[in-house]
Amino acid sequence: MTVRCDFLVIGGGIAGASAGYALAEHGSVIVLEREDQPGYHSTGRSAAQFTELYGNHVIRSLARISKPFLENPPEGFTDSKILTPRGALFIATEAQQPQLRAFAEFAAEEAVPVRELSRDEVCDMVPVMRPDAFRFGLHEPESTDMDVHALHGGFLRGLRERGGQVVTDAEVSILSRDADRWAVTTRDGAAYQAPIVVNAAGAWADMVAEMAGVRPVGLVPKRRTAMLFDPPADQNSGNWPLVIDMDEQWYFKPDAGKLLGSSADETPIEPCDVQPEELDIAIAVDRIERMTSLKVGRIDHRWSGLRTFAKDKTVVVGFAPDAAGFFWLAGQGGYGIETSPAMATATASLIVDGKLPDSFAELGLSPADIAPDRLLG
Ligand SMILES: Cc1cc2nc3c(=O)[nH]c(=O)nc-3n(C[C@H](O)[C@H](O)[C@H](O)COP(=O)(O)OP(=O)(O)OC[C@H]3O[C@@H](n4cnc5c(N)ncnc54)[C@H](O)[C@@H]3O)c2cc1C
Repeated sequence: MTVRCDFLVIGGGIAGASAGYALAEHGSVIVLEREDQPGYHSTGRSAAQFTELYGNHVIRSLARISKPFLENPPEGFTDSKILTPRGALFIATEAQQPQLRAFAEFAAEEAVPVRELSRDEVCDMVPVMRPDAFRFGLHEPESTDMDVHALHGGFLRGLRERGGQVVTDAEVSILSRDADRWAVTTRDGAAYQAPIVVNAAGAWADMVAEMAGVRPVGLVPKRRTAMLFDPPADQNSGNWPLVIDMDEQWYFKPDAGKLLGSSADETPIEPCDVQPEELDIAIAVDRIERMTSLKVGRIDHRWSGLRTFAKDKTVVVGFAPDAAGFFWLAGQGGYGIETSPAMATATASLIVDGKLPDSFAELGLSPADIAPDRLLG
């Protein structure tokens, strides 16, 4: 028996769940997810930070558009707050001062509140910083922690409440276009049809496109590794901001009574259930210990996830130019959680109305900035 719907979404991570939620206002939605838990891959492995100072102008604008939803989600969306105060503190050496200045300038241009901090002020805020290891700090007070579980769960629950379905253990293995609709078969033989397919398959999005006979856009999944370790017993580390190197060579932040640290590795790798490499952990420990008086003893937990980028590090949202009804929602890189409300709105708006909402144009974003066409030459 073939199940029919208006929109078939491939992938149940934050991208597929949020797009499914937005599309369910306009028609019937089925999300097909290969794993038994929709957040198993990148979505369940993030550092859960919201910052308006990450990525290029398009990404920063998408974060900005997402902020009101994350601050005030619709009634009943979630029982807990999605954003909680954290702050982000960018650290620069003397040599990194030009980057810090440029950073402060575009923060001012985009009206993101920041404050430059002296070495002493940095050490007051995060007393484990080694004063001889850096020169300047820049504080973004409105950067926050995100409750990714609550956000993802809210999208999934909301999409079901709107009549949509999420099917797990449903790996799409055949995709073909019959007349005016896509025919999709999962590995267990279940069959679906819909006029529109949304490719939200994360690191596998190019593979899904190839399966459908659609030209891939050249996505590169990159491994990033993180670890949790004990903070020093004599410090009130729970109030520290995310502390991050100006050139993103290392970062650490409080996480549920522990410290989460990373060397901010970006190693290109084939899509897979990626696992951490000892070397990346060792590099993270070394870089964090050089900058601070922290001693990384026992590591409680270590993990890796895939951050998947297009070559311009901008998201890919729009209809494939070479296949009717095939919609790309990919290339979320290291910002897929914080931009998900905007990306979901963009997806529904482009599919249903053929244009982006006015709020995007007000920030200077046009469909061409995010369309797959730009990558296909
Ligand atoms: C260490 C780390 C730190 C990060 N920190 C942040 C952060 O602080 N803030 C932020 O905003 N972002 C952060 N990110 C990035 C963020 O996690 C990702 O951008 C986001 O999760 C991508 O979501 P997704 O839904 O595209 O991918 P995924 O969550 O990977 O979902 C894609 C899904 O598609 C499914 N799938 C693939 N192929 C098929 C198929 N054939 N059939 C059915 N299903 C299929 C997969 O099983 C998977 O569940 C971080 C990422 C990492 C790894």
